[in-house]
Amino acid sequence: MTDSALPASLARARERLSQALKEAGRAKDSAHLLAVSKTKPPAMIRQAWEHGQRAFGENYLQEALEKQAELADLTDIEWHFIGPLQSNKTRAVAEHFDWMHSVDRLKIAARLSEQRPDHLAPLNLCLQVNISREDSKSGVMPEEAEALAMEIAKLPNVRLRGLMAIPAPAATREAQREPLAALRELLAALQQALPQAPLDTLSMGMSDDLEAAVLEGATLVRLGTAIFGARDTR
Ligand SMILES: *Cc1c(COP(=O)(O)O)cnc(C)c1O
Repeated sequence: MTDSALPASLARARERLSQALKEAGRAKDSAHLLAVSKTKPPAMIRQAWEHGQRAFGENYLQEALEKQAELADLTDIEWHFIGPLQSNKTRAVAEHFDWMHSVDRLKIAARLSEQRPDHLAPLNLCLQVNISREDSKSGVMPEEAEALAMEIAKLPNVRLRGLMAIPAPAATREAQREPLAALRELLAALQQALPQAPLDTLSMGMSDDLEAAVLEGATLVRLGTAIFGARDTR
């Protein structure tokens, strides 16, 4: 199943990102688009790839592995795991992904490092931060992020690249910006604490808050609905 609306949605998403960067006074290529393809069929991923999209985000491991197998011919595709992960499922992520955005404890990072195959580059990691301090959300609490980052930075086969968050929904752009600004400040603090780590990534901004996220320094925006359309509820 391909989707006749997809090329236009993808073009609109790119335009939205470049407009947001311009309004924020930022360089054109200072933030990139991660196409979140969870629940969407492999044919739509292939179609987006044919229109130049390379980075894709998936939330559900089994579903992702099946799609990757079907899309194995797309050589320069980049896979990002962005969902919650149980520690007994780390091996498949270590073997089949380029990025993992949702690390919130040392055990997961240590297993990913240990299980990363030697022939692959280190796995890029982001710490997921529970920036709105919600009981229901995964993610490390902001005040615990630095200690965790220090430990992860010592692991040999992963590379700590930055922070990821899914803030609580907010009604206005100003309210959206608050937690996103907090994540930006937290990354700046980590950069101070770990000057030798390649901490260049703020994974934040989704279909509803992309503009606010770009204003607050997002470098990787994760768009699902805006590119692939609404998802069926699972
Ligand atoms: C689903 C999801 C997205 C994309 O959300 P949209 O609102 O559809 O753009 C981004 N990040 C994560 C972690 C997600 O689970």
